[in-house]
Amino acid sequence: MTFFPLFHNTQQLSALLIGGGNMAKRRAKSLIDAGVACDLMATKIAEDVLQLIESAGGKVTVGAYVSDDVMQGYSLILALTDDRTANHTIANDAKALGLLVNVSDKPNEGNVIFGAIIDRSPLTITINNGGASPVLSSILRQQLEQFVPKAYGQLARLVGAYRPQVKQALPNTSERSIFWHQVLQGAVAEAVFSGKHTEAESLLKKHLKELDNGLGAVKSSGEVFLIGAGPGDPDLLTLRAFRLLQKADVVLYDALVSEGVMALVPEQVERVYVGKRRANHSVPQAGINQLLVDYAKQGKRVARLKGGDPFIFGRGGEEIETLAEQHVPFQVVPGITAANGCSAYSGIPLTHRDYAQSVRFLTGQLRDGSVDLPWPELIVEGQTLVFYMGLKGLPLICEALITHGMDKNMPVALIEKGTTQDQRVMISNLNDLPAMIKTESVLSPSLFLVGRVVSLHDKLSWFTSSRDA
Ligand code: SAH
Repeated sequence: MTFFPLFHNTQQLSALLIGGGNMAKRRAKSLIDAGVACDLMATKIAEDVLQLIESAGGKVTVGAYVSDDVMQGYSLILALTDDRTANHTIANDAKALGLLVNVSDKPNEGNVIFGAIIDRSPLTITINNGGASPVLSSILRQQLEQFVPKAYGQLARLVGAYRPQVKQALPNTSERSIFWHQVLQGAVAEAVFSGKHTEAESLLKKHLKELDNGLGAVKSSGEVFLIGAGPGDPDLLTLRAFRLLQKADVVLYDALVSEGVMALVPEQVERVYVGKRRANHSVPQAGINQLLVDYAKQGKRVARLKGGDPFIFGRGGEEIETLAEQHVPFQVVPGITAANGCSAYSGIPLTHRDYAQSVRFLTGQLRDGSVDLPWPELIVEGQTLVFYMGLKGLPLICEALITHGMDKNMPVALIEKGTTQDQRVMISNLNDLPAMIKTESVLSPSLFLVGRVVSLHDKLSWFTSSRDA
């Protein structure tokens, strides 16, 4: 290792930047953002660099570097001129004075280099590859950014505040380490990540109380993640959904969760199918609610994967109601609902200034052989109707819309297995659709969209985000 990472106290650093171009601007910005006092000297100074330094209270000197006198009082020197010889001289002078010095693009001429930073203050992650490739560091930084939740800093602050109390309650180092591992990977951390700070703090206090009562390290408290798995294409999963799947002990999933999404569940995680279809193995809703509670009470992290979004025709509300009643911690992770996925992947916008100013998601499920919906409201122009679970009731729905006055030529799109490799888009109209589905033998899951926006399909389907071939 040529460069050892050390973290400097920003309050005790004072930097002199020599050079006034783009690099000076970038460095000045990141140092100033971190709270480092920065002055600058250069022969030519871009206006925005000048403003940046001055508005942070720094001093700007116009002129060339001639002697190390200007380095007095600084602890960090940055050689950023576009003159290599000048940078070399600056570096040598600074080193002779025992200062930290960085030379732009020449890692070995100075004695310190800058890394790519992931800032979750007070938590900071920095990446350096000895100056071999700043772009590579930057690419790696972008990848890591996605997997380090933004709220890590808040989590660090929260637990930081409780460290002395925990140390007192648990003097044994290894017991304390187990305690913190459980807190930082468990429900407290998840509560912070989902923005529930008060809950996180009370949970942490509860754990502390258990310590005071002599219960030892945290009883591993289970929790449930109610996760929207999206309509099929695994690329549509959110980053949070993906992260939680990686830490689950058990996954409960149903028929709408695609194989592609299930492939993202780590090998060792237990999988429990609770689908409503497939032979006679369906688990009634009350049974699913209870299973979630039982697994969580065994101390497990339970990922409950549901197709699309859990709160759109997903009965997610009922599942978390039971969890809340039983005091099981949970969080809900939204997913892309089928209407959004199908719309994007078929080139049919749900709203459009010329055709639809609103959109309705409806359930077309049959109850006692009929579909009970507010038909007069549905036939009003200027809206898009999306029917979920409407395959069986489709002939009835089309007929009712026409009977209540909707144009029988109103365009309709039927989308089968939207966003998956097998997506099929069938375009028709209200009058002809019932006959068409008889000949096309449409499979589940399918939904249909009714409205003038459907006419845009021809024009837009080539240009939308439909799956790679
Ligand atoms: N919570 C889910 C909806 C569950 S209801 C969501 O937000 O998407 C189940 C219905 O959703 C299915 O009957 C079908 O109408 C629709 N659906 C789900 N996935 C679909 C897909 N990939 N393509 C078309 N329709 C889909």
